[in-house]
Amino acid sequence: MVERVLVSLDGAIRDPDAPLLYADDIGVLRGDGVFETVLVRDGQPCAIESHLARLRRSAEALELPPPDLDAWRAAVQKAAKEWGESREGLLRMVLTRGRDSEQGVGGQAANKELTPAEPATTGYVLVLPVPQRVETARTEGVSVITLSRGISVDLAQAAPWQLLGAKTLSYATNMAALRFAHRMGADDVIFTSTEHKVLEGPRSTVVIVRDKQLITPPPKVGVLPGTTQRALFAEAEKAGWECLYKPMFVAELITADSIWMLSSITLAARVNSLDGLRMSAPDHAPEIIELVNRGVARAGSVADW
Ligand SMILES: *Cc1c(COP(=O)(O)O)cnc(C)c1O
Repeated sequence: MVERVLVSLDGAIRDPDAPLLYADDIGVLRGDGVFETVLVRDGQPCAIESHLARLRRSAEALELPPPDLDAWRAAVQKAAKEWGESREGLLRMVLTRGRDSEQGVGGQAANKELTPAEPATTGYVLVLPVPQRVETARTEGVSVITLSRGISVDLAQAAPWQLLGAKTLSYATNMAALRFAHRMGADDVIFTSTEHKVLEGPRSTVVIVRDKQLITPPPKVGVLPGTTQRALFAEAEKAGWECLYKPMFVAELITADSIWMLSSITLAARVNSLDGLRMSAPDHAPEIIELVNRGVARAGSVADW
């Protein structure tokens, strides 16, 4: 059973223990690139078309050359097949601006006609075992603290260079927030805006349940559109839930029937305590989990991403 799978964008299976990147790769120098994290289940990449669509959107936000989605799809399928069906895998798609030394005059030149070709980006697919914490989060839920992200809900539209709607490789602050939470004895974080509005987790989307409604903050407040949340909404609507994109205050979390952290690998983790306040499991919890499982298993693309 392979422990790691590495596939480059030309479809070649690489030795995961051999060096792959150049020291001047801008993804390393500046975190200038984008990524996707995809669950491999039964040998299949879950919701792959949604991930490809978001990869394209993220690349566009960073003004990277448009990714060759057929090449990405093929590399992902190859990596998932190589990983096998015996257990779940965490598949990462990584796309960076490429080598600094190859950006050349072309990338910067005022006269674009002189550019013979776009500088080559770096792209690869890496599959690793799913971390231990995932099973616990799925079955027992997560304890969460709210932390300020220090930004207004207006920032995403006022300052597009903040790249708030793109899944970029610059995740050092997200990881720092998680380490801070761990020091406080919590498993995860819900970021809040300067107006005390709910944003998202460092690697997940926040969805609350209230009566027969599912509510998540809209992307325009500066959160990443989540593929898992979208998959849930698509299934839940068919099952008679009302699904809403609506800004909400932190105070509304406390009165919700349940709070969920949704992400591609963990899928649905119920918040079992918020800022130290216990939240018991409601009757609808198994249904939410089932809707998410069903949603991500559907191979088709999510319309109008
Ligand atoms: C990846 C991510 C999510 C969740 O997106 P999924 O497509 O469901 O995995 C939400 N917020 C942030 C900041 C993320 O990086």
